[in-house]
Formats: sequence, C-alpha cells, structure tokens
Amino acid sequence: MNSIVLFKNNLRINDNPALYYAAKHSEKILPVYIYDNINIKKILGSASRYWLYNALNSLKKSLDGNLCLYNGDSSKILKETVKKYSISSIFCEQPFLKNDIALFEKLKRELLQCGVKVNVFNCTLLWDPKLVLKKDNTPYKVFTPYYRRGCLEKIAPDLPLGKPNKLNFLKINNDTDIKDLNLLSKFNWYDKMDNLWKISEDSATQIFDSFLDSSIYHYKQGRDFPASNYTSKLSPYIRFGMISVNRMWYELNKLDLDRNIAHYKSEIGWREFSYYLLYHFSFMETDNLQTKFDDFVWQNSTEKFNAWKKGETGYPIVDAAMRELWQTGYMHNRMRMVTASFLVKNLLIDWRLGESWFWDCLFDADYASNIAGWQWTAGTGADAAPYFRIFNPILQGEKFDNEGKYTLKYVPELKNIPLKYLQKPWEYSIMLDYASPIVNLKDSRENALFQYSLIK
Ligand SMILES: Cc1cc2nc3c(=O)[nH]c(=O)nc-3n(C[C@H](O)[C@H](O)[C@H](O)COP(=O)(O)OP(=O)(O)OC[C@H]3O[C@@H](n4cnc5c(N)ncnc54)[C@H](O)[C@@H]3O)c2cc1C
Repeated sequence: MNSIVLFKNNLRINDNPALYYAAKHSEKILPVYIYDNINIKKILGSASRYWLYNALNSLKKSLDGNLCLYNGDSSKILKETVKKYSISSIFCEQPFLKNDIALFEKLKRELLQCGVKVNVFNCTLLWDPKLVLKKDNTPYKVFTPYYRRGCLEKIAPDLPLGKPNKLNFLKINNDTDIKDLNLLSKFNWYDKMDNLWKISEDSATQIFDSFLDSSIYHYKQGRDFPASNYTSKLSPYIRFGMISVNRMWYELNKLDLDRNIAHYKSEIGWREFSYYLLYHFSFMETDNLQTKFDDFVWQNSTEKFNAWKKGETGYPIVDAAMRELWQTGYMHNRMRMVTASFLVKNLLIDWRLGESWFWDCLFDADYASNIAGWQWTAGTGADAAPYFRIFNPILQGEKFDNEGKYTLKYVPELKNIPLKYLQKPWEYSIMLDYASPIVNLKDSRENALFQYSLIK
C-alpha cells in the first residue's frame, strides 16, 4: 500500500503523527506539500512566506530530497496524484480553523470517491478544542478555567512519538522546485534575516534545549523585559510546526515544576486557547467577539497608521517595537501589547488593521494567536484586557526597559539623551532629530474612554 503524507502546518519529522503512522502502515510513502493559494482564506504575509520557503527547504533535506511540491488547487492536485501513482491512503493533519476544516471535508469526500482512505491526526494542538467543554457542554470563554479545569485536570496530551524508524519513499518525477512556489518577494528584504534566524527543525530543537538549560528559570519575571533573553523565541518554529508542542510539553514535565516552568506551560496554553476560541467562535476571525464593539466608531487615520507602521509615533518604546518588527520579523510579547493598545486606544484605529500589519510582518504570524492577541488587547475578545485598560507607553518603557537598552537598540537617534527623558524626549531641552508625538496621551486616553462610554 502506497500513501501520501500531506504536510501543511507541521513541517517536521520528529513527533509528526501523520508521518509516523504513514511510515508504519505503508509500503512506500510520498511526502507532499501543496502551496494552495486558491482555497485559502488569507494569503500568507511576506514574512511567513520567507519562513515557509526556508522551512520547506529544511524539511526536504530531512526527507532526503523526497518532498514533492505543488503549486495550486489541492483538490485537483491530490485527485490527479492519487490516480497517477495508485495511492490508497492519505495521512494528514487535523485542521482546526474554519476554512481549513471546510476544505478538508471537501477533499475527504472527493478522495473517498476515488477509493482513497483519509487518515487524520492531531499534529498541532495539545488539546482538541471539541473535547474541552464546560459541565453544561458549552465552550469556555475565560482562560484560567479553560486551562485548569478543562485541560490540565481532564486530558493528558498525547505522548510524543519520536521519529519514524524507517522511511521508504515512493520515487516520482516532481520537477517543482521550492523556488517555483514564488514565496520570496522580488524585492530582497530578507537577506539580512539569514543572520538572525536559523530556520530548520534541528535549530528549533537546539533553541528549545538551550532555553531549558537556563533562561526558563528566569521566565516568570524576565519575560516582561524586551531587552532580556528570557523568552524562548520559538514562536515561528511552533507556528510552522517545526517543533512539536507535545514534545515540548513532556520535556517540560521532566523538569522540577517551579513557577517559571508552570508559567511557560501556561503561555503554551494561551496558544491552545487562541485556537480553541477560533474553533468555537469562528466569527471572531473578522468580527468582534464582544459584539457591543460593533458600534464602536474607529477613526482610522491613514497618516497615523503609517506613522505607527514605520515606528515614527514620537513614543520611543512604541517606535522601538515597531522597528523591531520591521527589522527582525519578531516583536516581544509585552511590546505587542503596548503597540496594539497604542494603535487601538490612543490612535482609535481598528484592531483589524493592526492585525493585518502584524500578519504581513511577523515570522510567527499565526491565524489564531494573532487574531486572539489583537482582540484581547483591543478589549473586544474573550477574557480580554478591559477596554479602559490603556497601556501608558511612557510608563511601560520606564518600567520594562528601565536601562533603555531595547529602546536605544532600535531608536539610536536618542542615544545622547539622559535616561530620565528617554521615554518622553519632548521634555528634553535640546531639539532632537526624532518625531514629535503624533497624539497627546492624556487627550487621546480621555477620547478613547469617551468613545467607549458611548457603546457601554
Ligand atoms: C497583538 C498580539 C498579536 C500576537 N500575534 C501572535 C502571532 O501572530 N503568533 C504567535 O505565535 N503569537 C502571537 N502573539 C502572542 C505572543 O506575543 C507570542 O507568541 C510571543 O511573543 C512569542 O515569543 P516567544 O516565542 O519568545 O514566546 P514565549 O514567551 O517563549 O512563549 C512560548 C510559546 O508560547 C506561545 N505563546 C506565548 N504567549 C502567547 C500568547 N499570548 N498567545 C498565544 N500564544 C502564546 C507561543 O507559541 C510561544 O512561542 C500575539 C500577542 C499579541 C498581544
């Protein structure tokens, strides 16, 4: 029996249930990746396409060159391929997002009609969203009870499977090269990223192992300080399934549980919660989870939005974070909250615009975590920071970048300013070559609260 292993968001060999069971139950396997821009809800952002390009290169190497690539409609491609190579089974990952589920169901019907068996495995999440429900069988909307009562106390995540013992490949002629998927934009912005990120499954494992060696023991306190190295920076690897969260979970369980490890596990839990929310409340992909915000009047100034995107708002911590995003394809979690709050609350710009900018620029741009993160910060989501909690960028900068290292790394034009003025350079007596604040914090805060009072 020959099988296709269909890769999508889990581009790894180790603990990949679809690959593992395909190798176990098939004579020969044909690993396939289809870049399907036709049946997709949202085209991948530029940063994600660069990451995908490299992740596919790495996966192809790990499969001794046997990854068959296709560009186009998955339905048409799969039907042709199963016929041409007498494939009797497909092994693939379980989808959790609405559009992916609809596409999967359609493919499954079509493949069954061709006499092909479809085997599906949860390769992405620790907890299948449909299995985690409250006593009254409705979904949770608050993180802590979801995580503690719904997940931790009830369901042990699947044990990791390791790597398949042996892979016997079905050799076919597939002349599509990774370059033919047109993932890289013509304008080469990405060369410098090659020095910042090592994109392979092995690198993901190395980063995780070295994080477990030391940084994790500072995680709970250290994770809030963007200049420190106390978060794992594994998010793009996790997004593309280059490391399995189940494997991470059980590696973490081997350590003596302290508050740092518990906290790190709960952050992985937030990723699960994001998928959970989108699974049960798929309308939040585009609409406010809290529908009262549908009447909120956004001001959406193009000029202010552009200043925010370029890191020219005149608020150094916001500008540093937006430039970090542009220069590295990553932004620290606290900075994501600060910049998102500034956009939505001080500039009164719709969270969906911010979400789409992050979607384009983040290497870890994740359909579920990005939407849930934006709705959480905007106050429109589940268990959200209340709308009236407005991050003050001056205080955030002074508290979480107290030595100014992060700010100065990305806003070097402020290097000669005394530290006490760093987060409010307009108070310094000497003129600087730096943007003036595009809004007044106090006025914009009051305006935001007034707009909120209208929908309350
Ligand atoms: C507005 C906004 C947008 C965001 N967009 C994304 C996104 O597109 N993709 C993404 O992976 N994360 C997103 N996050 C969550 C979080 O900021 C990143 O996961 C985290 O900064 C990644 O850095 P790290 O790997 O060092 O995290 P660590 O602190 O080392 O955490 C380990 C892992 O846990 C997961 N995680 C941690 N925090 C969160 C969280 N709050 N929500 C969901 N998962 C979490 C990630 O997979 C992360 O890699 C967003 C948060 C906000 C506020």
